[in-house]
Amino acid sequence: MEKKSLKPKNIFVSEEEKIVVWADVQVSFEKNFGTEIHQSWLKNITLIKEFNDYLILGVPTRFFRDWIVSRYLDKMLSQLKTFKNSINRVEFKILEDHKSVSTNDTLKIDDLNKVTEIKDSLMNYNRLNPNLNFDNFISGSSNEIALSSSKKICEQISRYNPLYIYGGVGLGKTHLLNAIGIELEKQTNVMFISAERFMYHFIKSIKKNDMVNFKDFFRKSSVFIIDDIQFIRGKEGLQEEFFHTFNSLIDKSAQIIISADRAPMKLDRVQERIKSRLAGGLVVDIDIPDLELKTKIIKKRLEDIQNQFKESSNISDEVINFIANESKTNIRELIGVLNRVVTFSRIHKKDLTISDCKNILKDVFNQAKIITVDKIQNTVSNYFNIPLTEMLSQRRSRPLARPRQVAMYLAKKMTTRSLPEIGRRFANRDHTTVIHAVKTITRLSEKDDEMKKNINQIKSLLLEE
Ligand code: ADP
Ligand code: MG
Repeated sequence: MEKKSLKPKNIFVSEEEKIVVWADVQVSFEKNFGTEIHQSWLKNITLIKEFNDYLILGVPTRFFRDWIVSRYLDKMLSQLKTFKNSINRVEFKILEDHKSVSTNDTLKIDDLNKVTEIKDSLMNYNRLNPNLNFDNFISGSSNEIALSSSKKICEQISRYNPLYIYGGVGLGKTHLLNAIGIELEKQTNVMFISAERFMYHFIKSIKKNDMVNFKDFFRKSSVFIIDDIQFIRGKEGLQEEFFHTFNSLIDKSAQIIISADRAPMKLDRVQERIKSRLAGGLVVDIDIPDLELKTKIIKKRLEDIQNQFKESSNISDEVINFIANESKTNIRELIGVLNRVVTFSRIHKKDLTISDCKNILKDVFNQAKIITVDKIQNTVSNYFNIPLTEMLSQRRSRPLARPRQVAMYLAKKMTTRSLPEIGRRFANRDHTTVIHAVKTITRLSEKDDEMKKNINQIKSLLLEE
């Protein structure tokens, strides 16, 4: 890869630094992402400057950048690593006015400062993303309480402290946290960080023997937003530090906003005192979107794309309906599916039919996730935080019986196993026990919101993995 003869002429890149051969990268992008995605997106990316551990890439527009970042960045990074292992992030420069990078341009320091930085996806979200704001967060019955609570926080800090938002993957938690951050940043000092990144700083500070700075750094903010707190599960040292950070922030009336994939009390392997702190303010959840919300999101996205490309969309209401109905698990997936359809229709310049869509999306929808009884049992016992052996045992106490029934119910609903087969997998129970479980949970999930929520969350956990 370091063969000199292969280096393309590009005056942005000094010869000593240049190692990655962009043309080769493009060939590998095409191979790995397929011609469609390559043609419509990736081939328009140019290499502007290379550093030892990151690249600056040129993209035509902001929208283009967001699209690539949300869809392809992880895979691009891993591809880039095969060319140069030290690369751990990519920065994008938006070349709005220039149609493409002309080799006569010089890259000024000034331009470099305007470069938007996208962190290594592992460490991401240390800074706010201006594109995830309240204006483009669409409300529906599954998220309206989370949305209105988030907005209220922005009007009056420490009204609820902490605000704790939880829900499954891809349902909009990071988007909301980010929107709060953008709003409050206008008036005060905001710290927005993922729990994972918090740990990264924590460990780095321990190694550098620099805990004083670490403590100062995190305790000086007036608004502290921490994403994906479930990451602290099982990490004692980190929990200790988090607890102290949390307390000193609350002491000085700083607002704390937290997201997680589950309710505070469901955070197993987290200290009780932390759980009760987390639950001590306002706890709200985001649920799986209903058809109406999914349709609204699709329509809004299409509108944005239309404005961006100044061309009318070829996506009929029928197709919109199809996508909204088929995409079940989360909003991130929904958007991904929509993008594929739109890209296809742009390339082929045609009005899509349902059967085109089925074709384009067959690997997404047909790749029916294989859900086994084992997997259901494991997920349910984890979810309710009870040992699997207890859940499968003959004991009949309610805290064990309910989860057991939930697991049986899901086994019936989500696998093709027969009732007797399911019974056997639950320590040789009779099929009538399974029937009873299915009936009980069906009834409960209709009239009991808590049960409905539990079932939905477990389902989305199962579908995600
Ligand atoms: P989470 O953090 O819960 O996993 P994200 O906040 O990352 O989910 O959301 C996933 C994607 O879906 C993002 O692109 C986000 O902008 C989008 N999204 C989620 N909810 C909404 C919504 N209500 N309106 C518009 N976009 C949404
Ligand atoms: Mg998130």
